[in-house]
Amino acid sequence: MTSFSFRLLEWFDQYGRHDLPWQKSKTAYRVWLSEIMLQQTQVQTVVPYFERFLEQFPSVEGLAQATEDEVLHLWTGLGYYARARNLHRAAKLVASEYGGQFPEDLEGLLRLPGVGRSTAGAILSLAMGTRAPILDGNVKRVLARHDVVAGWPGTTKTLNKLWVLAEEYTPTERVADYTQGIMDLGATLCTRSKPRCQDCPLSATCIAYRRSEQGNFPGKKPRKTLPERETVFVIFQRPDGSVLMEKRPDKGIWGGLWCFPETSHTEDLPANLTTMQGIAGESPINLEPIKHSFSHYRLIIRPILRKINRAPDTVAEVNCMQWIDPRKANNIGLPTPVTHVLETLALHQ
Ligand code: SF4
Repeated sequence: MTSFSFRLLEWFDQYGRHDLPWQKSKTAYRVWLSEIMLQQTQVQTVVPYFERFLEQFPSVEGLAQATEDEVLHLWTGLGYYARARNLHRAAKLVASEYGGQFPEDLEGLLRLPGVGRSTAGAILSLAMGTRAPILDGNVKRVLARHDVVAGWPGTTKTLNKLWVLAEEYTPTERVADYTQGIMDLGATLCTRSKPRCQDCPLSATCIAYRRSEQGNFPGKKPRKTLPERETVFVIFQRPDGSVLMEKRPDKGIWGGLWCFPETSHTEDLPANLTTMQGIAGESPINLEPIKHSFSHYRLIIRPILRKINRAPDTVAEVNCMQWIDPRKANNIGLPTPVTHVLETLALHQ
């Protein structure tokens, strides 16, 4: 065991997190689920989602048998929905090809959709006690500072250097505790701003601390301003309050989730909705615009409410469309801006 891992483990025993829900009964299923949820999301946000998910799907087989709508619904609000779709696909693969048991080697785990080297390392070390390094955002920060690894970890060169260090510092004993410990240290002491170096067990060897350069590591992503795009949600609402929604194709943003029909201009409605325009109703009402940020652009959504007097049910069958009661949209996956619009509509019924 290196001095690095020894000091980290001593600190973990006293100050690490030992009561997170996925630490109780560390099965590969629970660790995998938590790791996927924790990608790009904070622990306190993940905890209630993790508990709801386990309650509904206590086993990987149960998750494999769920519909995509059920999975996406439970994921609603966590964002990055490709994670949920990959989770579902991976569960099906584990159930069909591995008899419901997660593979116990790196190669097998990397075959699962959505599982990269760090997630695979976490499953191997936390659930199976196998020596395997991890390199999530917290660990990258600790290692980049401790060994002053320059550059943005999004580049292959910097990432490779960090993997070499992660491999070197991972001990052969108590690998599960070490893995949890280094994640905890990054999350609670070696934080992005104002790291608590005085309390850190690694401060004696941390080069960034010695040079007072913690803020320079890890290197920042090159800045670029996000472009803005605009879209219009057309919300057809029947007299009974229900609204017309459509399931989006699997590919693209919000894949597999339910949205309002969308158009870039109010005049340019999708062909299957133009007939609805002829139906008598009140004048369109412009609702409050919504801003939503993605990693690559910012979306300005202009919702337009069209209350209509009557609408044939058959329209709802075109292109996976359905009339949905905003107060009862609780069993389908919805993007966050759509949830906001539905809540507004439900309040005004
Ligand atoms: S000494 Fe400070 S910068 Fe270095 S690893 Fe510890 S908390 Fe992070």
